[in-house]
Amino acid sequence: MNDSTSVNTASILDRAKTVLIGNYGRMPIVMARGEGVYLWDTDGRRYLDLFAGFGGGILGHCHPELVAAATEQARTMWHVGNTFHSIPQTELAERLNKFALTGQAFFCHSGLEANEAAVKLARLRGASQGKAKWKVVSLNKSFHGRSLAMIAATGNPAVKAGFEPAVPGFTQVDLGDMEQLTGACDDETAAILCEPIQGEGGIHALPTDYAVELRKLCDARDITLIFDEVWTGCGRTGKWFGHQHFTLGASGTGESVTPGRYCITPDIMTLGKAIGGGLPVGVMFAKPDIAKLMVPGKHGCTLGGNPICMAVSKTIFDVIERERLLDHATRLGEHAVKRLRDEPKLRDRIRDIRGRGLFLGVELKTPPDKIVERALEKGLIINLTSQKVVRLAPPINITPAEWDTGLDLLIDVMASQ
Ligand code: PMP
Repeated sequence: MNDSTSVNTASILDRAKTVLIGNYGRMPIVMARGEGVYLWDTDGRRYLDLFAGFGGGILGHCHPELVAAATEQARTMWHVGNTFHSIPQTELAERLNKFALTGQAFFCHSGLEANEAAVKLARLRGASQGKAKWKVVSLNKSFHGRSLAMIAATGNPAVKAGFEPAVPGFTQVDLGDMEQLTGACDDETAAILCEPIQGEGGIHALPTDYAVELRKLCDARDITLIFDEVWTGCGRTGKWFGHQHFTLGASGTGESVTPGRYCITPDIMTLGKAIGGGLPVGVMFAKPDIAKLMVPGKHGCTLGGNPICMAVSKTIFDVIERERLLDHATRLGEHAVKRLRDEPKLRDRIRDIRGRGLFLGVELKTPPDKIVERALEKGLIINLTSQKVVRLAPPINITPAEWDTGLDLLIDVMASQ
């Protein structure tokens, strides 16, 4: 029997139970096909996807230009070891220089690997100065990945539970509390690691003045500032990268983003999710004076920078730029916040709406009852985090009409809770 033509959903679910590890809380739905903002299951039901596979599908499912880029690259050269150069790696790194900051890229497959590489580089920086700088301070409610070191960096006890003892050297402090942060840093602190907007922790943005203080502290104490932009990178928040919201005005001391506009920049930025558009791409992107410390033998990744992934990734930047999707994401995000705030049916339900662009968290007053399942019954994919924060992260090329259809369904689901 050919697997691709067998659409007996019950059989697939049954077989999966035996052969897949149960580490995900999966719905009893088998997705079979995607196009744009829609997914279809094996029974032919259609779903409007407002979560884009945890944000990976920044341009939706099977975007024709991404399919073309992948196909062409697959026909040309689909893997080459990193003992050689390849054109797509360089072209993607050039786009990061164009849209983020002057830097150098290391490519891997996932957000956690990018963060691991960033922490290694921060330690190397300390070592290069002859100092034992090895500790990392991160924030409560953060998420940085599932490796042993990254669960130590993650500010959520549930993520760490059962994997003790924790990798040493990682501490967490509360977002926004500079006194705690300053107290947590000592002469052995190599890095401060944080997300411009905390994604898994419930969509909490770093205030700009806090980001400014972080930058100052890192400069004063020779600490590497790492922004984990795995969620916020690549257009998700209405800017190319989340840190570009930390703008300082024309007279700022940060890095020039566009002429006359300055923002706080990290020493290292890490990327995952959207940068691959759904393919496995992670990036550690570091300012050149730090990046140069990662000499041969210090780090690597066999399949990192795979040409097919790189070709897709650089095309994502081209599509976002050409179609002005950053402004589009900003407009659609603002529209949603207004619609949800003004909706009389939700007045008693919503506590707060947070986020930027098409990265939104709607905090409900009380934990909802099976809201994700109820939404699926109506053909809508959403996500719930921190018990009562409904997260929306649709493809940023969603049309205004599709977005409004999704919001209609969401309002219905939330109002009937
Ligand atoms: N950093 C952040 C901010 C994340 O949200 C995640 C995943 N949700 C990660 C890192 C880890 O990414 P990955 O699952 O690709 O390893």
